[in-house]
Amino acid sequence: MNKKYDLIIVGAGPSGVFTAYELIELGLTKDKKVLLIEQGKSVDKRYCPVEKAGKCVKCKPYCNITSGFSGAGAFSDGKLTLPNKDSDSIEVGGILDKYLGVEKTKDLMFYTDEIYLKFGADPHVEGLDNLDKIKEISDRATANNIILANCPIRHLGTEKSHELYKKIQDYLLANNVEIMFETNVVDLIVENNTVTGVKIQPSQSTDPSTICELSSDKVVLGIGRKGANWLSAMCSKHSIKNRAGVVDVGVRYELPDSVMKDVNEYLYEGKFVGYLPPYKDKVRTFCQNPSGFVANEVYDNDLTLVNGHSYKNKKSTNTNLAILASHHFNDPFEEPIKYGVNIGENANQLGMGNVLVQRLGDILNGKRTWDKELKTNSVVPTLKTAVAGDITYAIGYRTMVDILEFIKTMDKVVPGFAHPDNLLYAAEIKFYSNEIVIDNNFETSIKGLYSIGDGGGLTRGLIMASASGVQMARILKDII
Ligand SMILES: Cc1cc2nc3c(=O)[nH]c(=O)nc-3n(C[C@H](O)[C@H](O)[C@H](O)COP(=O)(O)OP(=O)(O)OC[C@H]3O[C@@H](n4cnc5c(N)ncnc54)[C@H](O)[C@@H]3O)c2cc1C
Repeated sequence: MNKKYDLIIVGAGPSGVFTAYELIELGLTKDKKVLLIEQGKSVDKRYCPVEKAGKCVKCKPYCNITSGFSGAGAFSDGKLTLPNKDSDSIEVGGILDKYLGVEKTKDLMFYTDEIYLKFGADPHVEGLDNLDKIKEISDRATANNIILANCPIRHLGTEKSHELYKKIQDYLLANNVEIMFETNVVDLIVENNTVTGVKIQPSQSTDPSTICELSSDKVVLGIGRKGANWLSAMCSKHSIKNRAGVVDVGVRYELPDSVMKDVNEYLYEGKFVGYLPPYKDKVRTFCQNPSGFVANEVYDNDLTLVNGHSYKNKKSTNTNLAILASHHFNDPFEEPIKYGVNIGENANQLGMGNVLVQRLGDILNGKRTWDKELKTNSVVPTLKTAVAGDITYAIGYRTMVDILEFIKTMDKVVPGFAHPDNLLYAAEIKFYSNEIVIDNNFETSIKGLYSIGDGGGLTRGLIMASASGVQMARILKDII
């Protein structure tokens, strides 16, 4: 007979983990059987070999950066982007407020932040002091048609995130949450438009005889961006209602700390947004890492994208940040995830399986970058596995124009932003474009099946993904 659970949570990223955490706080795990299933490893076993091996070894079956307890959060920079208390909107992190309203979402995010503090997050918050200096940067931005969203940031740091999530993992295990690591949810079981369980398989196995079934009439999907492709397939197979959202495509940009000094010092992360001619697409900076390191982000099928992080103690002399252009496709093509994957694969093909890097000056002069040129470049790449080449072969004309116009305009806000030696790594793509249709209780069109976190397009960052988990637990309180 199938093992039966009161609740199955798929994915132990921040959204799934905080669902389990809040269920403990609500006293539900004492007599309810709650199972968390994660295809990656426990957080203490997660390790990225890139530094030792000198290159990305494409860990099998899953990348340790994006899979395992705490999901993409474990190796993330751990910047908790908090809502601005004085603002009547929530500028970044996702669309949770669309379902809960702004005030409730803010309360939830502050409550979630308290949990991070309880498990050891740094009490210091960046972006609350030096308001006159921040205003100067903001005024310069406004004068150049760029908006600066001012959000306070709590910075955990990559190595501290790891420690903090280990404590949360121990807490869940000590409080009766069952966790299956290295177990892949390969399918959902749906009967009469109602979920009745999941099919699982050991992550290492491809043998169909190792698939088995678990029963539950409540299943929460917190599968993150890395599970977005799988979720898309589940939508087609089980007729889960979804819609094509925006796909964010772009580059990781690396430049000297000295150029970004003011933004780093006063804001830690500057969230700049522009809608510049000729296309007027939304272009934004995202995930800024002062004195940080550019990193690989490896997806299934070895698709290698780029990201960045920074440590609390280990420092480079460069700042990196994403520059992303938002695109929307709906007629006749409506598969934004596929579009993003194609761009990533093109870049990988040109880099022989690696991320590509190119000097800004070379792009503007219409030439590729050569490895030997990087050796004498004033900005030294922090991602050692990146291959010098020509990113414009991989990224579409419209996106490239969006990014270059944005960089040139940003040079008026932050002098030196468009220095020819600055580096563009490709491709950085955000897979939250498969938007799952959910109601205000996060329930999908399938009864008993819920979607939270980044994977279904609800959130786009740590604090909101975690907050969506907290709210999920509160919704489940009276129904499991
Ligand atoms: C390098 C890097 C740096 C980042 N830095 C920041 C930052 O500084 N600040 C910030 O706010 N955000 C940052 N992010 C983004 C942040 O990590 C995510 O927004 C957040 O982790 C989303 O949480 P989630 O629970 O929705 O999904 P995830 O964290 O992606 O977790 C999903 C989990 O589900 C598992 N899973 C997927 N499919 C299945 C399946 N079928 N069966 C079983 N398990 C499955 C995955 O293995 C994964 O562990 C960063 C991301 C990366 C990769």
